[in-house]
Amino acid sequence: MSGSTGRVPFSFELFPPRSPSAEVTLWDTIQRLAATGPDFMSVTYGANGSSRQSSLDVLRYLREETRVHPLAHLTCVGSSHFEANRLVREFLDAGITSFLALRGDPPKGAVEGDAFLGDLGSASELVQLIHRVQTERAQYATLTSLSGGGRLPERREKVRVAVAAFPNGHPRSTRTDQDIDTLLAKQVSGATMAITQLFFHAEDYLSFVADARAAGVTIPILPGIMPATTPARLERILELTGERRPTELSRRLHSTDSTEEQFDIGVEHAIELSSTVIDGGAPGLHLYTFNQHQAVISVLEDLNLTAPIAKETTV
Ligand code: FAD
Repeated sequence: MSGSTGRVPFSFELFPPRSPSAEVTLWDTIQRLAATGPDFMSVTYGANGSSRQSSLDVLRYLREETRVHPLAHLTCVGSSHFEANRLVREFLDAGITSFLALRGDPPKGAVEGDAFLGDLGSASELVQLIHRVQTERAQYATLTSLSGGGRLPERREKVRVAVAAFPNGHPRSTRTDQDIDTLLAKQVSGATMAITQLFFHAEDYLSFVADARAAGVTIPILPGIMPATTPARLERILELTGERRPTELSRRLHSTDSTEEQFDIGVEHAIELSSTVIDGGAPGLHLYTFNQHQAVISVLEDLNLTAPIAKETTV
């Protein structure tokens, strides 16, 4: 966290590459993003058909080729208790200590409402599982060192588990306060931070945070912000998230065929949104990159946030 420096922390979301050529481009993108001094970079899991291995490859690249703290998304989709346990151990073995615990999107071919989950039924259960696995590892390491065996210091590292939050409601929610109740339950389960679904109006985030605080949520709630720099990207993201259409942004993006103008419109909107939520007390910014560096770096540069400093991680 920025703490006494007064710097606003920021972070980026990436997804695993879907082809060898996308992989090469991604390494370059990561290096450019890393140079801006983010608090952490998160890597999605399972979304759009990506595999466990492809997520781990990106996380390992972050650990080995940059100084950026990696944060792994993990989901409940399709795993038995045994498999979920093994998955968490595998990520811990790879040196990953920060997670975003999610229920998970329906896998390809399934839709919301289908039975696509495994033994874990919600993100809260995954939060608990991650903490439990880490505790067992720490106990094992203690026993090993007490009995004179090799020490495993990295296994004692604190595990931090973030969760998702939905300022405009999760599509499954049946009432507005259900999302606050769900977030509170995740906090009780051991979540140390929340990252929001993207939103297009600052008031959506600010009022959600105010309601969450009133209900007893105390963990940081990091706003998720995506520069919508093409009409196609805006349409795709509305389809994926079920968010309401931002009418003015949508009108402006569709009003020109110039890709430069569309880029500027999307970046300008993200700057305005970021600036308002920071002024409203947001603890940082989490930027959805779509594996591209230009738009998110433009936002950060305009807000004067990119100067690298010595830092601790947020989660
Ligand atoms: P949960 O917290 O388990 O719950 C989802 C909703 O279900 C709740 O908001 C609530 O409305 C309802 N609910 C939950 N528990 C209860 C209960 N006990 N009683 C009644 N209702 C309940 N998906 C991926 O597959 N891979 C990713 O990498 C990924 N990254 C994401 C990153 C962010 C920042 C966000 C916001 C979402 C991401 N998603 C990802 C999508 C996410 O998996 C879906 O939005 C999913 O539908 C909800 O996940 P959740 O963790 O919030 O679920």
